[in-house]
Amino acid sequence: MQLQFEDRFTSIFRLRIPLPPFITDTKPHDPEMKETGWSTHPSEHLKPNQISFEDGEAYIARKDIINIFTDGSKIEHGVGAAFCVLTIDIWAYQWSAKLNDNNTVFQAELTALHEAVIYASHLPNHNTSKIHVDNRASIMASSNSMSTNETARKIFKILLSNPRIKVSWVKAHAGNIGNERVDQLAKDATQHGQPYSHTKLPKPYIKGLLRKRMLEEWQTSWKNGDTGRKIYNIMPSVSLRPTNWIREDIIFFSQHGPFPAYLKRFHLSDSDYCSCGGIDTALHYATECIYTVSWHIRKPAPNFEQKWLKRVANNLVSRQKIRGIIKFISENRDLFRPP
Ligand SMILES: [Zn+2]
Repeated sequence: MQLQFEDRFTSIFRLRIPLPPFITDTKPHDPEMKETGWSTHPSEHLKPNQISFEDGEAYIARKDIINIFTDGSKIEHGVGAAFCVLTIDIWAYQWSAKLNDNNTVFQAELTALHEAVIYASHLPNHNTSKIHVDNRASIMASSNSMSTNETARKIFKILLSNPRIKVSWVKAHAGNIGNERVDQLAKDATQHGQPYSHTKLPKPYIKGLLRKRMLEEWQTSWKNGDTGRKIYNIMPSVSLRPTNWIREDIIFFSQHGPFPAYLKRFHLSDSDYCSCGGIDTALHYATECIYTVSWHIRKPAPNFEQKWLKRVANNLVSRQKIRGIIKFISENRDLFRPP
């Protein structure tokens, strides 16, 4: 039962089937996929001066360089990405967007850097541009040709074919005017930015969503189904956590086992009665049958059978007794078969 649901949702994930509307109406639909191998031929490297982890503030003073600042932001209202462009002391251009609420701050940082390198790659050829990023992780991912992140790979390819674009780390919240400005732009975009739909949803989010939907669907069919009702009454909630039920427990609580009444259902026996004359139910063996006295549990009050079963299922001492009974019945079937 559980497998059937898991399989379906796993194939939605693995086969990259777009998420059906009953799962989510958020766009974009596609989960972010991991890339493998090299994005380019391993002999292709970025120029050594293209990436710098030194604080790049010194370069802002150079008038012949176009300085671009990027930032990503995730706060409770949403996720935003932004970049702004400083040329010869003039704020020449700025871009910002609001991402999906489920995107991560890392995705926002990479999105900002991606948009910035696209912008820089369209500048006239003689211009050198320096992109200032306050997030080391996104610089590292984007300068690594083996990165598994697809946005980082796109950035890498643009950098590779545009050696005039340089990326440099800048210390955040250190009074750098460009960094302060873009920080504010990204924060504003979390609420008021134009929706941006190119960034895919993060994998863990999609996995969590699928798991949640799977459990909901499984729960509904467990609740409304007609098999396993005896177990349903004891365990009404489905769960992916393993239960500590063993074979004997399942036989007892489902009453699918060597009981005469069960055997009768399948025409393996013609009696509903235990050989001692009692009516053949789990309750009979656990509380009154003369053959199972050594494992007896106290009898439930009339009309409290269901509560009693639940309590027995949740009590380890009672469970040990139940296991003893089932083992004993299985090993001595002839004793219980009515004459
Ligand atoms: Zn009996």
